[in-house]
Amino acid sequence: MTDMRLVVVGAAGRMGQALVRAVTAMDGVTLSAAIEREGSAALGRDAGELAGLGPLGVRITDDPLTAFAASEGVLDFTTPKASLWFAELAAQARIVHIIGTTGWVDGELEPLKAAARHARLVKSGNMSLGVNLLAALVRKAAAALGPDFDLEIVEMHHRHKVDAPSGTALLLGEAAAAGRGIALAEHSVRVRDGHTGPRPAGDIGFATLRGGSVVGDHTVILAGDGERVELSHKAEDRQIFARGAVKAALWARDKKPGLYSMADVLGLND
Ligand code: NAP
Repeated sequence: MTDMRLVVVGAAGRMGQALVRAVTAMDGVTLSAAIEREGSAALGRDAGELAGLGPLGVRITDDPLTAFAASEGVLDFTTPKASLWFAELAAQARIVHIIGTTGWVDGELEPLKAAARHARLVKSGNMSLGVNLLAALVRKAAAALGPDFDLEIVEMHHRHKVDAPSGTALLLGEAAAAGRGIALAEHSVRVRDGHTGPRPAGDIGFATLRGGSVVGDHTVILAGDGERVELSHKAEDRQIFARGAVKAALWARDKKPGLYSMADVLGLND
């Protein structure tokens, strides 16, 4: 089979550069184009040079329409607004769209579902093997220990991160809620401040730390009477997410249109 032609959007961002490095290093894929927003200082620069590699002969443009028409897949770690637009374009082009973007709010997911009627979308708040395995373990632990164990999710990320709790913390919260057979939206406590009163049973709490260059630390604590279980993952290098995204694109290549998760890609739902 020929190499899968992939376009990286947000190519000058932290993850965009990691994606360019991953596509260049991995077998079965080739970088077809690199996109940044209109007016970006990165326009016209070589995507490889910007990512710390040698020149790749792929200049960064602000023309996704042309790029998508000449590609089989899009790797997208940008913003929800940009990802919604790219999903529409990916649906028109009938190609694969891998979405790592986080910070989604209610209502933004409906247009993605519409795009998934024509595009093959894989969306995940975390594209690493380790975190998706952790989510499966959290689901099991939450089901086995039940609501007598209080569930808290602690995360830390670098100082530049703009959304909280992290997409990964929410993914882990969803896994815990699924294990307990409850809806996360009705049981999540995303901040605590002032006189909060005692902890209501069954809540799933989130705590957010920000600072330095931390790529992503997550711990799920199940606290019972007299004992505590802690399940943790520490990301040391952004390349784990980028490699996961490329793996997702290759997996989605021969799938039907639809909205898939990283658990589907990794076979953790089987
Ligand atoms: P970042 O460094 O700010 O990169 C985002 C890039 O997207 C920037 O270069 C930005 O350009 C560009 N962009 C924004 N709107 C655009 C548009 N309309 N067209 C083209 N490019 C556009 O952020 P990051 O640290 O790479 O993170 C990006 C996203 O990925 C965040 O939501 C983060 O939480 C998420 N993330 C997910 C995973 C995962 O495994 N799922 C892992 C790590 C990070 P400007 O700077 O000009 O705005």
